Parts: sequence; C-alpha cells; structure tokens
Amino acid sequence: MTIYLDYNGSAPLAGEVEEYLITRIKKNGPYANPSANHYLGMKCSMGIEKTRTSMASLFSVSSKNVVFNSGATEGISSVFNHTYHQNKNAKKKILVLSDIEHSATRNSASYLADNYNYEIIKIKVLENGQIDIEQLEEIITTHKNDIKLISVMAANNETGVIQPVEEISNLTSSYNIPYFCDATQILGKCNFDFSKIKADFLCCSGHKIGALTGVGALIIRNPETFTPLIIGGNQESGMRGGTQNYIGIETFGIALENIKEKTQYSKTVRNSRDTFEKQLKDLCPEIIIFGEESSRVCNTSYFSIPGLSSSQLQEEFQLNKIFVTTGSACSDKKESQSHVLKSMGFSPQVINGAIRLSCVMKDNVRCFDHALKIIKEKFHSQVH
Ligand code: PLP
Repeated sequence: MTIYLDYNGSAPLAGEVEEYLITRIKKNGPYANPSANHYLGMKCSMGIEKTRTSMASLFSVSSKNVVFNSGATEGISSVFNHTYHQNKNAKKKILVLSDIEHSATRNSASYLADNYNYEIIKIKVLENGQIDIEQLEEIITTHKNDIKLISVMAANNETGVIQPVEEISNLTSSYNIPYFCDATQILGKCNFDFSKIKADFLCCSGHKIGALTGVGALIIRNPETFTPLIIGGNQESGMRGGTQNYIGIETFGIALENIKEKTQYSKTVRNSRDTFEKQLKDLCPEIIIFGEESSRVCNTSYFSIPGLSSSQLQEEFQLNKIFVTTGSACSDKKESQSHVLKSMGFSPQVINGAIRLSCVMKDNVRCFDHALKIIKEKFHSQVH
C-alpha cells in the first residue's frame, strides 16, 4: 500500500475530478477553442465561466476580478511584473516580503532588486512561525511613501502556520499600499473567510486542491489598471493572453465545488494530526514540532527529532512506500536548508532533522499510524 503524505507539494487528482475527466473523455468533448464563436467553443467557454463564478464567490469578489493562468508561480510573476510597470518612474522603490515566502515570490522580488533598483525589506518571523506584525508596522510607518508592494502569504507551505492576514490587510489598506497574499496553501484546508481581507492580489493553484496541474488563478482587486505579463489575444479580458487551459479550469471548478465538503473534515484531520504529534512527544519528549503554538492548517505536521536525520528517515519511509518531504517540495534544489526554519531561528542541527507530513483532507488515522510505526522503529534502532 502506498501512503502519500505530500499534499502540500501536490495533491493527487481528487476522486470527483477523476470521475469528471473520465466522463468528459468518454463523451468525447467538447474540445474547442473557448474563444471560438461556434457552439463547441461557447460550450468550452461556459465551463470556464462556471469555474470563474465559483472562484469569485470563494474570494468574495466579482467574476471580473478573477484571471485564470497556469498556476501560482505565474500569478506571483504577474504581480511583480505589474509592480515593475506601475513604478517605472519612481525614484525609490521598496518591496516588503515576509521571510518565509515561497521561492517564486522571493526570486521574483530578487529579480526586480537585481535588475531594476528595488530594495527588499524582509519581515522577520517569530519562533512560532508567524510574521512579526509590530515590525511590519514599523517598516510601513518608516517607508510608507516608497513601498510598492507588501507580500505575506496566507499559510506557509512548510509549517502550515496561518499568518495574521486580516491584520496585515488592515494595515496595508490604511496606508494605501498594495498587498499581495499568496493563498495557495490555505485553500481547501480550512474555512477561511476571504471577505475579511482587503488584498489587492491573491493567487492560488489547482494542483494543491486536487485539480489538474498547470492551472491557477490570480484575483486582482483593480483589473482596470492591471498590466498583463502575457499579452497574446484578448483572452481573460486582456489580462492573460493565450488560449485558456479550459479542461484544467473545469477540473479546478470541480475541485472548488468540493472544498466546502473537504473543510468539514478539518476537525477529524486536526484530531488525527494532534494525536500523532502527541504520540511522537511520548516517544521523544525533546521533539520540536514547528509552529505548534500557532494556528496551523490541520493537514500539516512538521517536526524534528534530535538524533534522527530527515534524509535517513525519508529513505526509510520511502522503502515502506510512504512519501513525505524534508522541507519545501518545490523549493529550488540548490537550497540545502529550509529558509523558513532558518528564519524561525532554528539551528542547522534541528533543521537537518526536519520532516514534513501533509495529508489528504479525509479520515487519515491509518496513514499517521503507519508513519508512526516507521518513526518508532528508526528511533529505537538509531537513537536508543
Ligand atoms: N506558493 C506556495 C505557497 C506554494 O506552496 C507553491 C507550490 O508549492 C507555489 C506558490 C507555486 O505553485 P505552482 O506550482 O502552482 O506554480
């Protein structure tokens, strides 16, 4: 039996999505260019619009604020590209980022710093995995006229720690500074009320919630002033050129329809995760569970056991057909140690033991039981 515990890296196709695709293929379409003005084109376009309506409702925006693209990385690149175009003539240009942003955000910011004279200010992260909101306030009051974008994700991909996004967006909107929130990891994992946050941009990605890979969405508060990254035809109201990945977008819609049902499992998933972590603590009281004191998405457990190296543990898991990660799944392979854990202040030894389990939003007690068995065996053979 294979046990997949890397849902934060990429979720396998959701059952409903798989069924939808099989039926769609058996029915032989429709396949057409969604911009075509014939019946089949219109049918494809209707599928896109249906997902747009669901997406708009999830984010409490209107359909005109939703732009489909290829995934969160493209959404992030688009936001930074837009920021560049908006501020070409500014003398001083500052980007403010949390120290735990995804590498797509970090690298997009570095690109502007290396090529277009931007300065980057990082918001420190506390040991509990949340950003230092007081420091953010200080940064804003000191540099308010020069900050061109503030980027703080909703939930971190490694720790699962949920950031104080409502407070952040209250701050940014009161100073009229654009706020970008990467919502990729929070979607489908808790009942988050997006109507409470006043972000200028939000991004998300299909493959994190069981849709096909290669599809994502960017929510844009003021589409009228947006500069697209991809010009192309007039698809997506001119905000993202190129024939839409309409089958991918349809699967995104199916996965979104099931989000509410999945979040109903939050309590069950949290209970099994918490029980697992309690059993780990019984095994080794010195264990460090990252972000334990903070509000975390319920499917994620990220920890380090003194004396157990993550690569050895991962290998042991793999031999037993259990798939976990030792850090950020989509971080560039150059990165040897998690920047997230470094910014939380953990030592290289602690980081060397970091293992992340991220599970499906369903009853998954058995997955955790299997994982615990492997950890116990490895712990007894290696540490004791
Ligand atoms: N942002 C976060 C927080 C992520 O976890 C990921 C992927 O792991 C991305 C962005 C990139 O998403 P995509 O694979 O859709 O480009």
